[in-house]
Amino acid sequence: MRIVLLGAPGSGKGTQAGLLKADLNIPHISTGDLLRAAVKAGTALGVKAKSVMDSGQLVSDDIVLGMLEERLAQPDARAGFILDGYPRNLAQCEALQHLLERLQQPVDVALQLVVPSEMIVDRLAGRAAAENRKDDTPDTVRERLRVYAEQTAPVAGFYEQQGRLTVLDGVGELRDVYQRILSSLPRRAA
Ligand code: ADP
Repeated sequence: MRIVLLGAPGSGKGTQAGLLKADLNIPHISTGDLLRAAVKAGTALGVKAKSVMDSGQLVSDDIVLGMLEERLAQPDARAGFILDGYPRNLAQCEALQHLLERLQQPVDVALQLVVPSEMIVDRLAGRAAAENRKDDTPDTVRERLRVYAEQTAPVAGFYEQQGRLTVLDGVGELRDVYQRILSSLPRRAA
């Protein structure tokens, strides 16, 4: 099963992806995590990406696609994957489509978690305290939400046109949201 998780920063994608990964036994591939690992390791790519991430902007499409391609080439991704944080704009939608066509592994479903923006701001403030992420400061959060609305919101339309989009209410207890996700998945996965 190949799943793309969509939703604003703080909509719970990462948490839900973790649950899905354990139940479906497929890797959770988060481009944000891949980028943070590169920053931590101090690679050339990480050094380039850091200031962009700290400002709340998107890292260049080339860099992220290269990283993703490398990750998808690892053997565990052959069984499927949960993609979190990618695609984040329409150019990335096209790039992913081409990449997965080449690998003969098309996306099965795009799941969008919908959470009202007031709630998002509260959640991210909580996460800033808990995880100490540089990009969870109020100014950067505002910028990430703006970038999301401008560049990432159209991604749902891309999958809707393909008849692969499922929109889910992301408000509520973590386990309740997870049940909604499970019951929305095509049979063989749930
Ligand atoms: P969130 O979804 O909460 O914003 P992520 O961990 O997905 O957090 O992303 C953190 C940052 O990493 C983004 O603000 C962006 O700078 C960078 N990033 C992650 N994924 C991508 C991507 N697909 N394209 C460009 N930049 C990305």
